[in-house]
Amino acid sequence: MFNFKSSYTRLPEVFYTRLAPSIVKNPQMIILNRRLMADLGLEASDLTDQEQAALLSGNQIADGAEPIATAYAGHQFGHFTLLGDGRAHLLGEHITPEGKHFDIQFKGSGRTPYARRGDGKAALGPMLREYMISEAMFALGIPTTRSLAVVTTGETIMREAPLKGAVLTRVASSHIRVGTFEFAAYQEDDAILQKLLDYTIERHYPDKQNAKNKALSLLAAVIERQTDLITHWMRVGFIHGVMNTDNMTLSGETIDYGPCAFMDVYNFKTVFSSIDRSGRYAYGNQSFIGAWNIARFAETLLPLIDPDMGKAIKMAEEMVKHFQALFEEKWLKMMCAKFGLFECHKADKSLISDMLTWMQDNFVDFTNFFRDLAHEDSLKQDTYKDKIFQDLYQRWQNRLSQEQSKSKEDAIALMTRTNPVIIPRNHHVEHVIEAANKSDLKPLHDFLSALENPYQDDERLKPYQSPPKPSERVFQTFCGT
Ligand code: AMP
Ligand code: MG
Repeated sequence: MFNFKSSYTRLPEVFYTRLAPSIVKNPQMIILNRRLMADLGLEASDLTDQEQAALLSGNQIADGAEPIATAYAGHQFGHFTLLGDGRAHLLGEHITPEGKHFDIQFKGSGRTPYARRGDGKAALGPMLREYMISEAMFALGIPTTRSLAVVTTGETIMREAPLKGAVLTRVASSHIRVGTFEFAAYQEDDAILQKLLDYTIERHYPDKQNAKNKALSLLAAVIERQTDLITHWMRVGFIHGVMNTDNMTLSGETIDYGPCAFMDVYNFKTVFSSIDRSGRYAYGNQSFIGAWNIARFAETLLPLIDPDMGKAIKMAEEMVKHFQALFEEKWLKMMCAKFGLFECHKADKSLISDMLTWMQDNFVDFTNFFRDLAHEDSLKQDTYKDKIFQDLYQRWQNRLSQEQSKSKEDAIALMTRTNPVIIPRNHHVEHVIEAANKSDLKPLHDFLSALENPYQDDERLKPYQSPPKPSERVFQTFCGT
């Protein structure tokens, strides 16, 4: 099925442990991503359902796979810890017919030497959550790992309650994390660190291979991708929830969908994760945490930036300082696009922030607001009769009319491609999981197909557009680890 040719095992052995996934009792396919299969050039039509489930649960090792668990470290809620794939097996890198490399990794496939106290398993709910949200992110045009399949294992796993066990197959352009560099730096061997740096550049930033200062160019390139990524998250109201450095990729893809969630009502301080008690990873904090994580990344690179530590620190600091300014520039441009503005001036910031303050004060739905704004009919709703909004609306209209060489239609087209109609709202995600736990997969399939074209108005999306009723509101999300 796969065309494996792995390169990760070329790295020094400290970076991984070879081991096979655990055998499970009774693998049953819950969902297989046929579109993604086609995109990856994967062919499985000659396999029976049982054979597919065996291959995507780890009961049968696919030809060419060399399963490993990768080692990494990370700052979790600010504290350094040695980690690693505790319940994941990287089967290898699949090479597509176009020559692109993708990691194929199981999650929930058994204990590894990095499992610490964990059981190595995953429950169906959180794996379906990752599947739904990662696929939604992809359709929204946001860099992300993808989900190829979820298979139940026929085993019961113990959490607060007994749950159905499952294995997710994740597809990623790599699993190199900021935490992988922290792990390398922890070895206190510059040769090991250099090997990881060279490998990462070869894999993700080949144009930096001849850079004068490779470490510094990698840092700059990662800052570029992470500021892009967080800007995307802000655009759609996504809250990652556990932005620990081990959950930040060097490729710039969103990874590790745990207690992540999309906000309904706009609030800068929104937090869903049950373990984020201080709001460290709140919606509005994500760029600051991004910069904090990048500073941890920069620290790992110091010996490769310059042999003179003082000089290296200075150079790295300069670069890290740039993160917030770069993010703010991208954020402003993105917000201008949400409001249909092609040009973006510093002065637009005050209109945008006044709009956001009004939204926050009036509990306005973040997603629906921007679609309403582009449809005069939708603005007849009571929420928009508010005097403060009327004034803001006028200011916005005046600003739109100053756009050179852009028509009203152009502005609406820009808003339509920037502001989604549909996001995976928490109450729908929870509803789908509840049904799947009772073996009803129809809500899952319906939801996934609705999430495929998130920028196109469509009658079929209506049931998913409304914010939750008070009784449906989800206040907390869980890692489900
Ligand atoms: P996360 O917060 O999901 O990014 O995971 C943090 C670390 O905990 C990673 O090293 C995971 O591999 C590990 N982990 C999470 N859940 C389990 C589990 N059930 N068994 C073993 N390790 C786990
Ligand atoms: Mg993680």
